[in-house]
Amino acid sequence: MYQLNGVTKELLLNLFFIIFPLFLYQMFWVDKDRIYSKSNFRVATLMGVLSILLCMSFPITFSSGFHFDLRQIPFILGSLYGGYRVAIWQYLSILLFRYLLGGDEIYVNVLVISLILLLVPLLKSKYSGMTMRGRAFISMGLVLISGTLTMLPIFMLPDTPDFFSMQFIGIQVFGMWLATYLVETLRNNIKMRDEIIKAEKTSLISQLSASISHEVKNPLTAVRGLIQILDEFDFPEEKKKELSKVAMSELDRALMILSDYLSLSKDPIENKETLDIVDELKYVIDVMTPYANMQSVEIHMNFQANSYYVSGERQKFRQCLINIVKNGIEAISGKGEVRISTFHSENQAFIRVSDTGCGMTLEQIQRLGTPYYSTKEKGTGIGMMVVYNIINSMNGQIEIRSEKEKGTCFSISFPLDKNI
Ligand code: ADP
Ligand code: MG
Repeated sequence: MYQLNGVTKELLLNLFFIIFPLFLYQMFWVDKDRIYSKSNFRVATLMGVLSILLCMSFPITFSSGFHFDLRQIPFILGSLYGGYRVAIWQYLSILLFRYLLGGDEIYVNVLVISLILLLVPLLKSKYSGMTMRGRAFISMGLVLISGTLTMLPIFMLPDTPDFFSMQFIGIQVFGMWLATYLVETLRNNIKMRDEIIKAEKTSLISQLSASISHEVKNPLTAVRGLIQILDEFDFPEEKKKELSKVAMSELDRALMILSDYLSLSKDPIENKETLDIVDELKYVIDVMTPYANMQSVEIHMNFQANSYYVSGERQKFRQCLINIVKNGIEAISGKGEVRISTFHSENQAFIRVSDTGCGMTLEQIQRLGTPYYSTKEKGTGIGMMVVYNIINSMNGQIEIRSEKEKGTCFSISFPLDKNI
């Protein structure tokens, strides 16, 4: 009985080593970046290796003196999700560590892990097209095969109770089931977050469209009037030139509004790049001015310097700021203003967006960012959630101060990009 307890404990500890790096990864890295980015890939590989090394450092010891561990679980998962690029690192670290530790059943192990390295990554593309259930089935099947292969020498020994081998394989399959579902849940959460941001953007664009068409209508009406005048009266050449110049500049304005709006709705696959906060804020103000005009709100800006560089994804950064400015405009009933200012310290750039709107109570501030919390008739209640998500992904911070009936001030800070 004591023996069983010891083995079970060691097996559970091994199980923990598989789950632990996954949680670590989820907590500290995944939210900071996109799932498919290079640095995330490297960290994921590192976590796979870490998991293997931990498993190998605390093996399960059987009465006959054999050591086993659950390293095959992270190895197979790494090969299935990451292909050869991950598997080769895991393979090499197993070999190296195995060599450093020494051990008797080394040949069986090398054979089994070499088989995994050669065959399992081949399944990668098929695997990624499968349903969650199919994936769990495949990974569990693979670990069942590799576990059985590893156990073959033990099965052949006369004095080792098969019970331990069965227990080992059982826990191996169970551990794989758990790990696969964990990885899948983790990936689904990230995918969902991206989809929410996309969906929010679509609704943002449709909400802005009324003000954009309103704003484009004005210059078009003006141009139409000008053409009519030019047609009806016989102006001197000088006057004609002047009027067509006016018409041209009105059309330019309409074009600019439209192109700003269109570039907002574009959705390219994005990567992190160096952004100039001042440039982006100018863009945001351009896009939001029609909306502000429609609600008779003025937008003022005050930039302490000509440029601040931070690192992030352009479209998301814009979306984040637009959401904040839009909330500011919407908080104002009647006349009012939204002020946007920037300043910086040695390491950080600050953006401050304040409005003279209805303000919020402390309780309302605390509810900001919870999905579907909205006090507006046509509100979606996901604008602030997206804001928090994007700021978090850029390693930024947000602080909100608000006073009922006075207004609200959002202060956001980002680490300055020092590579410029
Ligand atoms: P929505 O704007 O669609 O309602 P948000 O997530 O953008 O959703 O905002 C959630 C809620 O937070 C708003 O309904 C509003 O009550 C409150 N809020 C956000 N920004 C401000 C602000 N600047 N002033 C007052 N209330 C605000
Ligand atoms: Mg909003």
